[in-house]
Amino acid sequence: MTDNTSEKPTTVTPNTALIAQWQSIPLYLRIVMALVLGVVVGIVLGPEAAVLSVPGKLVLRLLGALAPPLILAAIIHTFMTTHLGGPLAARLPRLLLLNTLVAITVGLTVANVFEPGRGAGLTPPSPHEEATKAANPLAIFLENVPKSLLGPLGDDGKVIGVIFIAVAFGMALRKERERPIMTVGHLVEVFLDALIKILHWIIAVVPLAVFGIVASIIGSQGVAQFKALGIFVLCVLLALVIQAAYYLIRIRFGSWVSPVQLLRGGRDALVMAFSTASSTATMPVTYAALRDRVGLREQSAGMGALVGANFNNDGTALYEAMAALFIAQMIGMDLSLQQQMMVVLTSMIASVGAAGIPEAGLVTMTMVFSAVGLPVEYIPVLLTVDWFLDRCRTAINVMGDMNVSCLLDGKQKQESIP
Ligand code: ASP
Repeated sequence: MTDNTSEKPTTVTPNTALIAQWQSIPLYLRIVMALVLGVVVGIVLGPEAAVLSVPGKLVLRLLGALAPPLILAAIIHTFMTTHLGGPLAARLPRLLLLNTLVAITVGLTVANVFEPGRGAGLTPPSPHEEATKAANPLAIFLENVPKSLLGPLGDDGKVIGVIFIAVAFGMALRKERERPIMTVGHLVEVFLDALIKILHWIIAVVPLAVFGIVASIIGSQGVAQFKALGIFVLCVLLALVIQAAYYLIRIRFGSWVSPVQLLRGGRDALVMAFSTASSTATMPVTYAALRDRVGLREQSAGMGALVGANFNNDGTALYEAMAALFIAQMIGMDLSLQQQMMVVLTSMIASVGAAGIPEAGLVTMTMVFSAVGLPVEYIPVLLTVDWFLDRCRTAINVMGDMNVSCLLDGKQKQESIP
């Protein structure tokens, strides 16, 4: 096979320069710009803007396809690489479970009390609508984008789907072809890295998707949904603040650390979590802050920050549960207690499976929606605010890790080493 990567000189056409310039703008700014443009185009085009919703659906479909393998690889990787053992490890699952349950309860309570989605007046997609959509060429294209990574390789038999997957992995692994694989661990890492690379490509299309979704919603349904979305953002923020307060109270009564000490010592990690939207990227900073600035024992800092960062995503769990309820309210679907229990269960699994990277929660959300029979078509509406809420819930994910570390450290401060 010939290597043609080094043969061609890279020509910088005005187009590539423009793309590079666009991509050098931070993602959140690109999304805000897309949002503003979407509002303008929606007002100008009116109902005609409905066709612009296709990129949003495409992004959703791709995210959904990526979710199961990403969860699989992230969990295998965590189990293979984290040190599990010792007396602290026995207390850890109980603490993690309790915190996540509290987070989901807080989220569901706030969403039930304030009902941010009520009054948005959306109707669930009817089978008739689905049938007419299937006739247009864009819909046919969408139909061929695989719904799951393994589907086209199994018995759904869609060759175009196989090609999509082959091209995506081929491109993602292009730079990795010389990477030596000596152990099974390396193999899992390569698979995970390739998936994360593909996820980044999908995220690059998010501004376009946001533009299309906003334009089509404003054009065909007006601003009611966005009012509801604004209230939803406020509700999520309120729930996250309550969760933060819960952490601080637990720390105050369950460990020697005072809440002020924790906030002061851990602020670098919290700010970094907010600015990167990645608890994995923040992990080393969280660990160092807990050990060096707060003064926890090495083992408790490690357990919370390193193991917790992989499994403990309370902010994500809270958000997924609230999002499911919000969309149910928007389409006027009453979730029974049983369905809400299902939301609790799947949100817990989804938050454990969400890798600590930007937008991971959005990827696993399709799972929560499918489990309770909510139409996933409305998840794109959340894309418009996810860039912001992702940062906020990541900060809470990191704060949850800090909370666990402090509780594991107990009421007795370690003897200071002279
Ligand atoms: N961005 C979050 C994190 O890194 C995960 C999520 O999307 O909820 O913890």
